[in-house]
Amino acid sequence: MDQKPVPPPHVLIFPLPLQGPVNSMLKFAELLCLSNFHITFVVTDYIYARLQRHSNIQTRFESYPGFQIKTISDGLPENHPRGDRFMELFDSLRTKTKPLFKELVLNSKVNCIIADGILGFTCDVANEVGIPIFYVRSISACCLWIFFCLPKLIEAGEFPFIGDDLDALVKSVPGMETFLRRRDLPSFCRSGDLTNPNIQMYKTEHEEIPRAYGLILNTFEELEGPILSQMRNICPNIYTIGPLHAHLKTKLAAKATSTPTFSNSLWEEDRTCMKWLDSQPSKSVIYVSFGSLAVMTNEQLMEFWHGLVDSGQRFLWVIRPDSIAGKDWRSQLPVELLDGTKERGYIVDWAPQEEVLAHPAVGGFLTHNGWNSTLESIYEGVPMICWPYFVDQQVNSRFVDAVWKLGLDMKDTCDRSIIEKRVRDLMEVRKEEFLQRADEMERLAKGCLSEGGSSYSNLELLVKDIESLSAQVCFD
Ligand code: UDP
Repeated sequence: MDQKPVPPPHVLIFPLPLQGPVNSMLKFAELLCLSNFHITFVVTDYIYARLQRHSNIQTRFESYPGFQIKTISDGLPENHPRGDRFMELFDSLRTKTKPLFKELVLNSKVNCIIADGILGFTCDVANEVGIPIFYVRSISACCLWIFFCLPKLIEAGEFPFIGDDLDALVKSVPGMETFLRRRDLPSFCRSGDLTNPNIQMYKTEHEEIPRAYGLILNTFEELEGPILSQMRNICPNIYTIGPLHAHLKTKLAAKATSTPTFSNSLWEEDRTCMKWLDSQPSKSVIYVSFGSLAVMTNEQLMEFWHGLVDSGQRFLWVIRPDSIAGKDWRSQLPVELLDGTKERGYIVDWAPQEEVLAHPAVGGFLTHNGWNSTLESIYEGVPMICWPYFVDQQVNSRFVDAVWKLGLDMKDTCDRSIIEKRVRDLMEVRKEEFLQRADEMERLAKGCLSEGGSSYSNLELLVKDIESLSAQVCFD
């Protein structure tokens, strides 16, 4: 008797509605489309409106007939700043979006869900309707491992910590005993208040994450192997398939002769900076960007500006219009900053960052160490100066400096003379040392994506596992 061919899996993907996770999950969705999966990509109305305005997502996915976008309400008023007041967004998703999500899952006839692990209600829904779920987390494994260890830190009396010595070592995170200081813990740990909603949210991750069939991480074994081994004691089924942005590019390049430029940006990219970079010498420019959420004061802006100009290095700087708190900074700039910038600098509202980091003129990255930015920099072999803003960035920057030796951690300081010195160190004094380390890591990052490499093989395994799990879900 002829067997009916098994239809491809229909996977519903629900990212955390912020720039970083949406960007990397769209890339992941496209990777699954390349395996002929059907994808329903769920974004909030707010994110969808921005994607439509600034990205080329519509045309990008036209070539995948199995791909569709569905929208859902995040329950917040239109003028709410979302990411800026994350806990309000999170609460609203948990209470107002959850019933809508269940309805959407039932109506979409999907046979697998992949959702951000911080949205635990998605697992409740998956269990209620009998559909397998994988979690994905868009932060580093090193930070996630600290979240897993929060109950242990509390039990050991290491957190909340007593006194104000931020350089004291933290001993209760296995694998990090020799280098993790209090100041490197996720930013909310400084509050010292166990009732802090962030702490409440992250404290249960070690119980929440293993509820799903598996955990998908945007990282690679060669980068975070020792920490991943620790995590596998609690959550054995981890698929490391990163760096995702490059994984997709590599797969597309293997299929076609050229990869078109694409963007999942929630802001309008200013591509004039690419032309400016074309006219700069090799590895002479430090790229400066603090991602999509970080906000700084006018005073901090001035310290950075003086530091950059005083360093004498060329710089390309992204100053998001909504990233400076307080008064209008454009109207009161000292003439020496304007002159120094005209001579050696270029400023944009938003840049095509992946392309910028891949440009031969770029030799350093002054970053907030968002996980996507960190991976993008590692993949292009660009050393970093780290000025973390919040959550996982405090941990990532410690790893960049003390573990991977890919740059200089400048957390908790924002002084023009220190900034000037760090920039000179990275771009001049210790340039060769950092470039050599960055080259080595770049080689590993590229190697893991080629046939037989760790991320390449883990994606194949993930595809097989989704296929076999989703084949067990049938609809009447
Ligand atoms: N990004 C960009 N242009 C910019 C600044 C950032 O395209 O001018 C992208 C960057 O490539 C990354 C994302 O925005 O993929 C930021 O994510 P990340 O995790 O680094 O930080 P977050 O914005 O979540 O703090």
